[in-house]
Amino acid sequence: MYHRTETRPVKVGNIQIGGNNQVVIQSMTTTKTHDVEATVAEINRLEEAGCQIVRVACPDMRAAEAIPHIKKQVNVPLVADIHFDYKLALKAIEGGIDKIRINPGNIGRREKVEAVVKACKERGIPIRIGVNAGSLEKRILEKYGYPTAEGMVESALYHIRILEELDFHDIVVSLKASDVPLAIEAYTKAAEVIPYPLHLGITESGTLFSGTVKSAAGLGAILSKGIGSTIRISLSADPVEEVKVCRELLKAFGLAANAATLISCPTCGRIEIDLIKIANEVEEYISKIQAPIKVSVLGCAVNGPGEAKEADIGIAGGRGEGLLFRHGEIIRKVPEETMVEELKKEIDKLAEEYKQK
Ligand code: SF4
Repeated sequence: MYHRTETRPVKVGNIQIGGNNQVVIQSMTTTKTHDVEATVAEINRLEEAGCQIVRVACPDMRAAEAIPHIKKQVNVPLVADIHFDYKLALKAIEGGIDKIRINPGNIGRREKVEAVVKACKERGIPIRIGVNAGSLEKRILEKYGYPTAEGMVESALYHIRILEELDFHDIVVSLKASDVPLAIEAYTKAAEVIPYPLHLGITESGTLFSGTVKSAAGLGAILSKGIGSTIRISLSADPVEEVKVCRELLKAFGLAANAATLISCPTCGRIEIDLIKIANEVEEYISKIQAPIKVSVLGCAVNGPGEAKEADIGIAGGRGEGLLFRHGEIIRKVPEETMVEELKKEIDKLAEEYKQK
């Protein structure tokens, strides 16, 4: 799939985003950042789920002061989310943060903006400009009457200009809206005029179920245009779920290397096994597999192997037994009780073969 490569590559800790790099998965902690122990535990859970960059809220000095203590105990690059207060930004930078999210136009006096930019430059820390349809500048709202894609891009360009005037170019931009068509339009327009990596998100998208559908619809449309360097799914749920949804979405577009995919049938009257339970178990199992393997789980052997020709490995249920197949060819019969275990062994074998390549 086409993927926008002409953006400026930007380093966030040990990860490079933009340019030729893959789309990077982000999430945000829900803990109080000053609670170092809880925050570290959540960051580690996110990393284990496949999150590559984690943002933490930095609403006060206690949070900013916690950053060096958190940094010492985690591996993923951290982003500090700061609104307005340049002192918090300076404290986070001093504490070793890898990126800050702050809108320079909201910082206030020129000297304050300069102080933040200078500190970021010295340490090679990028700045994310976060435009949100719900909090556009008053003059932009007055100009357009309500939040529009043009207004969002104009806001982004305003903040970008402030940084560029200070010869700062390690910039990442997001243009979030909770309205899906508006977000699609804003990102599409932004990609035409903004040469920096775009961080994707549909903000306040909802609960695990509705937010997943909404985010997949919006971000899927944006990704399909080749747009996006980093991605976050915003859910009213455990942030680990955000990471899982991100991964699945990227997989759907072939943008997640080294991730296994599940193909499972919708079931019908021909079903011979407890497919839903098995599919969930296999899905959980392959979420940890780091190889681009397609695994298929089918309810019956009538259409099974044929329906999953593209799968690298799979099972099709039969009465009391299952058929194990590889690339559409049956390799052997296995008893129902051991079917899932046999499939897992074959998945491991394939993953190992892939590693040897
Ligand atoms: Fe029905 Fe079998 Fe197809 Fe599943 S694989 S949908 S059970 S015919």
